[in-house]
Amino acid sequence: MFEIPEYVNIARQMTESLTGKRITQGDLGNSPHKFVWYNMKPSEFAAIVKGKAIGKAYTRGRWLFLPVGDKHILVLGECGGKILLHKSALMLPHKYHLSLHFEDGGALTATTQMWGAMELYEKGKELERQYIKGMRTTPTEPGFTSTYLSNLMRESIGSGFKTVKAILTQGQMIPGLGNAIAQDIMFKAKLNPRQPLDALQKNHVEALHRAIVGTLLEAIRLGGRNDEFDLYGNPGKYVRLMDKNAVGQPCPECGAKIEDMSYLGGTCYFCPTCQRLL
Ligand SMILES: [Zn+2]
Repeated sequence: MFEIPEYVNIARQMTESLTGKRITQGDLGNSPHKFVWYNMKPSEFAAIVKGKAIGKAYTRGRWLFLPVGDKHILVLGECGGKILLHKSALMLPHKYHLSLHFEDGGALTATTQMWGAMELYEKGKELERQYIKGMRTTPTEPGFTSTYLSNLMRESIGSGFKTVKAILTQGQMIPGLGNAIAQDIMFKAKLNPRQPLDALQKNHVEALHRAIVGTLLEAIRLGGRNDEFDLYGNPGKYVRLMDKNAVGQPCPECGAKIEDMSYLGGTCYFCPTCQRLL
């Protein structure tokens, strides 16, 4: 699944390579998939996008926004899979769930492996969509301060998301984070995934805030994770510290063996010594 670093990188690459390109043809894929969320019929989509120029892409949380002409926005959200630019429309993947062809002969495809939204809105209407409407401050926005995080923790506990992993990955409390990058954040903050939030002191909150922002900035700088692909089909260069390959290996900080555990709908990887429960 793409998380903030992959979306930021793909939006930047789209701005670099797609802005101003005119669409000759668009379609909603060649491979039906029940977990792809569309909001219109393929014929309506094709009619709206034809002849329109692409605007400057932008992203928030796990949502990517691509202006199509002056009046529409293509929304690609919550995706796991690939969003690829092809130099030639003859090189399209076997299966895809959305494509845009351009007058220079190139094409964009989006293919999801798990689920994802591929929706076209009249400008402004996308802000009414579930998960976009009311989206909380994301960690790459200036409002995401340590004080904000401290206040968010109280809200999170009140909503039933009472542990460190819960606030990082559940209930859209911190939009754009997922189970992958959360592992490194918890390791860098020296906090256990099951750590109750109500036991955290100010210094722990500050450490968690530093770990969230620092890990994201590093992953953005490196073009996303190395198990995801960018717009040009190249893997990112951010290698996770805490993933399945780390299990049984010595912790880079203390040498203890890294362990895994299943918790809150995904596997956690952690150091039993550095990340003790408080
Ligand atoms: Zn350790």
